[in-house]
Amino acid sequence: MSLKLHNTLTRRLEDFQPLKGKKVGLYACGPTVYDYAHIGNLRSYIIWDVLHRALEYNGFKVKHVMNITDVGHLTGDDEGEDKMEKGARREHKSAWEVAEFYTKIFMQNLADLDIRRPDVICKATDHIKEQIKLIKKIEKNGFAYATTDGIYFDTAKLADYGKLAQLKKQDLRAGIRVAVGGKKHSADFALWKFSPKLKKRQMEWKSPWGVGFPGWHIECSAMSAKYLGLPFDIHCGGIDHIPVHHTNEIAQTEAAEGVTPARFWIHNEFLNMGEEKMAKSLGNFIALDTLKEKNITPLAYRFFILQTHYRKQLTFSWPALAAAQNGLKHLYGAAAELPKKSSVSMHSDEQTGQIKDEFLTAINNDLDTPAALAIVWQAVKEKTISQKTLFEFDKVLGLKIKENLEKPTEEISVAAQTLIRERDKARAKKDWEKSDELRDDLARLGYTVMDTPSGTRITK
Ligand code: AMP
Ligand code: ZN
Repeated sequence: MSLKLHNTLTRRLEDFQPLKGKKVGLYACGPTVYDYAHIGNLRSYIIWDVLHRALEYNGFKVKHVMNITDVGHLTGDDEGEDKMEKGARREHKSAWEVAEFYTKIFMQNLADLDIRRPDVICKATDHIKEQIKLIKKIEKNGFAYATTDGIYFDTAKLADYGKLAQLKKQDLRAGIRVAVGGKKHSADFALWKFSPKLKKRQMEWKSPWGVGFPGWHIECSAMSAKYLGLPFDIHCGGIDHIPVHHTNEIAQTEAAEGVTPARFWIHNEFLNMGEEKMAKSLGNFIALDTLKEKNITPLAYRFFILQTHYRKQLTFSWPALAAAQNGLKHLYGAAAELPKKSSVSMHSDEQTGQIKDEFLTAINNDLDTPAALAIVWQAVKEKTISQKTLFEFDKVLGLKIKENLEKPTEEISVAAQTLIRERDKARAKKDWEKSDELRDDLARLGYTVMDTPSGTRITK
């Protein structure tokens, strides 16, 4: 059963096969670390984590690379302030400190959401040499020109520029000419920007063209090629990246190396706030910490995301999130009631096999997580799978079911919690008689007692 993924390049569902054996090179555009990632951004990272896990579930070995944009992403496409310097001004810190601070928080967000750490996490500022080398190649091949403001990519030179976004030539050219230091066409974009003459930037480097900093798109072309080779298998991003960032990444690599960098381009839809997308620039964003403050766990957010297909828009609401949290709690509770392993009396191997097939079919149908969750729900409710099978499914879902099997503590009455503490004390003193008495007391309250190395555990 092959994995089918929607490829933005062809606008079709295609059978996925790696370019080389069983190894998959996966590149996902990382965050711009000038502020907190919002939960819309985190929707993207949850989805790509599911993609990574689904590839492994299909027996592939994944090398997952993610960049950290810590320079060169301007508030406008080629104009405006560098977002890092903007963050620095806001927080009275250096741009470097701002980058370090928000990168750390972002990595914690990933861990909280049970998103596996990518194999390679690479910063734009650590790869200036590679970016300069690539720009030189683009220039040598005749695709670059200088303006008073920087070195620009000449989109008119590339016959099929804009193919990813299916941009039409006339649309591209009809745009009002943007006079950024004399750009030739509105779609042309900066490869290297010069530092302002009268102001010293916090982040700037020498280059063959003058002191300055790289344009935003060049980092991804340089680093994906460095860590994955060309071409590689899959490139991911949010749908906002289709018309500009990824279109320009493709143009750069085609101009320099004559190849389209990746075979598959996967794009996720937005998380919206009301009618609008959630965005830092729109000021309507919620960070993961805000959810935590409202007692919504990160995994409940992950569960909420998995309930909608990644190519559908999703509207945020607090009641929907609370419902997801409840749903996840129920799933944990129901999972605790399942037998540990399949037994003959419970159901046949054939039935387990069939449910596993259904689950794989859903996941392999362009990561249809809502369908996969429906299959899981039904099987758990009807007790037609064992915990062992459920944990296998959770390798793709990443909901930490195994770790959360115990009943949530708030379901255990205060009286029972007191008895547990007393019993732990009695056992520490090796007072077995007292310990057994307390076990009986707990049984009268309806709890079954288990002794574990970390103390008394009970289930209702
Ligand atoms: P940024 O930090 O702005 O570079 O964005 C990081 C990732 O989040 C990119 O892949 C964006 O496409 C994606 N993204 C931005 N806003 C949203 C949103 N509201 N919903 C889902 N993904 C988003
Ligand atoms: Zn990128």
